[in-house]
Amino acid sequence: MKQRAELVFIPAMGIGHLVPMMEFAKRLLDRDDRFSITVLVIKSLSVSDFTSYTDSLADSLPRLRFIHLPNLDPPPSSSNLRTRESIVSVLVETHKPLVKQTISNLFLSDSDSESVPTRTALAGLVIDIFCTTLIDVGNELGVPSYIFFTSTAGLLGLFLHLPELHNQIDTDFKDSVTELSIPNFTNPVPPSVLPLPLWSKKNDGYDWYVYHGRRFKEAKGIIVNTFAELEPTALNSFSGGRIRAPPVYPVGPLIDLHGQVHNQTRLEESIKGWLDDQPPSSVVFLCFGSRGSFGAAQVKEIALGLERSGHRFLWCLRRQPEKDKLASPTDYENTGEVLPEGFLDRTEGRGLVCGWVPQTAVLAHRAIGGFVSHCGWNSILESLCFGVPIAAWPLYAEQHLNAFEMVRELGGLVVELRLDYRGGGDLVTAEEVERGVSRLMDSHCEVRMRVKEIMEKRKRALMDDGSSFTSLGCFIKDVMGESSSGI
Ligand code: UDP
Repeated sequence: MKQRAELVFIPAMGIGHLVPMMEFAKRLLDRDDRFSITVLVIKSLSVSDFTSYTDSLADSLPRLRFIHLPNLDPPPSSSNLRTRESIVSVLVETHKPLVKQTISNLFLSDSDSESVPTRTALAGLVIDIFCTTLIDVGNELGVPSYIFFTSTAGLLGLFLHLPELHNQIDTDFKDSVTELSIPNFTNPVPPSVLPLPLWSKKNDGYDWYVYHGRRFKEAKGIIVNTFAELEPTALNSFSGGRIRAPPVYPVGPLIDLHGQVHNQTRLEESIKGWLDDQPPSSVVFLCFGSRGSFGAAQVKEIALGLERSGHRFLWCLRRQPEKDKLASPTDYENTGEVLPEGFLDRTEGRGLVCGWVPQTAVLAHRAIGGFVSHCGWNSILESLCFGVPIAAWPLYAEQHLNAFEMVRELGGLVVELRLDYRGGGDLVTAEEVERGVSRLMDSHCEVRMRVKEIMEKRKRALMDDGSSFTSLGCFIKDVMGESSSGI
């Protein structure tokens, strides 16, 4: 009889973290019928309700089940935390006893309640980047933990190198040095492109970044949503020993191509109908992830820039949330309230302003010729998958580092719109928007060719014997104890 293995997945509950992890689950289950997966959903981590998504996954995949953990209040001390990273990390830590209890109830028979699971073959935990406190649960239950890394191999290298940088540099990175040497980047990295919490050691998010970087080294392996042909240098630095790391498995790109998360595989009729009427590759799409939004002054500059560019556009424009640190933008009922007077009339027929749209369905449409993006890693992968060039306008989280890597490390894989925007009083002007859009939509733009090359390489990576396919095979062998050979 074949050996069977069950993995417990614990995602962070933002769309950009949950969806790639679920795509990984699908790929693993599809590849090897010895596996089954239980996903523990920490609901308090999310402002959005993903129940219809998780229900539809559970309905379509027999060896996948979801357990929704009851809401736990964050500890009172967390009300002073300033960054999303620290709030999420503290909340996850608060769930440790509950996670352990839930897994024990699921996998341990009454007679062996204390330690090693025997009744079912619990093979390990697969946990999100910000869940490394749960490595303790794996240790207590006697099973290995694997990290599911939702961003670039570049950022993974930074995380792993961070504890050393922290020891080497006494003061805040942002003030003390002009460049950082990170072993898996060829170019020196300016501190200004680091995620904001890393700018100052006094920031509560800073300590959590260093903590997670330290704990990644304890994992049995790290699964990364990238592919060897996209980030060869960053990935080789792990195998070449320039960065000490557990085995790394680049198995990506993991993308929800069928729009299962949106509960709609197709675009709204009005948007689809409009796109259908546009010439091929003529429309620039602007969309800024699950958390991107702008104040009125910035919205005005974008509108003017688009108008002056003369290009057709589809603009996903969303309302800024209240000051709650975990809140996300919402759709406007009437975008006219924030757009410059007369803008919608003047651009009628040439442009469309919308709220949340299923992004992959938009990028897949033949009318789309360019993408102004905040450079969230999923958005970059999705764009590369459909061969759509990006103009980079990073906003938050690790997006500035992603954009830096695309521009400097990977030989110009995106057009620069603005790489150092951090909001506040800063504005990207209408001229910058107009210039960025014009460069992006230029049919001779070199980035367009480079992106098509990567699109082909991505297809090959996923084929049988392609790099990501092979890497997934190595991960499976490791879990099954057949051999261990990540990179
Ligand atoms: N997304 C979408 N419609 C929108 C905005 C975002 O479908 O209007 C999806 C997008 O396709 C991507 C995810 O939300 O899969 C955003 O992930 P990403 O890593 O790009 O950015 P994040 O939201 O995590 O900052």
